[in-house]
Amino acid sequence: MENCLFCKIMKGEIPSAKVYENEYVYAFRDINPQAPTHVLVIPKEHVASLNDTAGIPDRNLAECLRAIPVIAAQEGLTGGYRVISNCGPDACQTVPHLHFHILGGTQLAERMA
Ligand code: 5GP
Ligand code: ZN
Repeated sequence: MENCLFCKIMKGEIPSAKVYENEYVYAFRDINPQAPTHVLVIPKEHVASLNDTAGIPDRNLAECLRAIPVIAAQEGLTGGYRVISNCGPDACQTVPHLHFHILGGTQLAERMA
């Protein structure tokens, strides 16, 4: 999709620190990390949020979820990690391209919000 920040990042039109890529998924470091490890996992096919996933094949979504533990292992998150997908304004979603935050590398807060 034109003018989508994460589509541009995925295509390499905007630089990013890539940590993982396959046919369906792109993952890169968050520019404003909120934990020692903070990676964003996105489907290569544009979809705005979890509310819109009926618009992409199941495979694309499944590959995002399957990439998460692979990336966590690659990042050495042996003690665990948290996965968040902000969906819509109440969750403060700022980039309307579905993404999963992987947060780890420290003891995370017990409360999530
Ligand atoms: P959201 O708030 O939509 O759940 O998450 C969007 C995330 O994208 C934020 O954590 C923000 O720091 C990150 N972000 C915004 N712009 C850029 C960018 O240009 N490059 C990278 N690597 N991350 C970005
Ligand atoms: Zn997009």
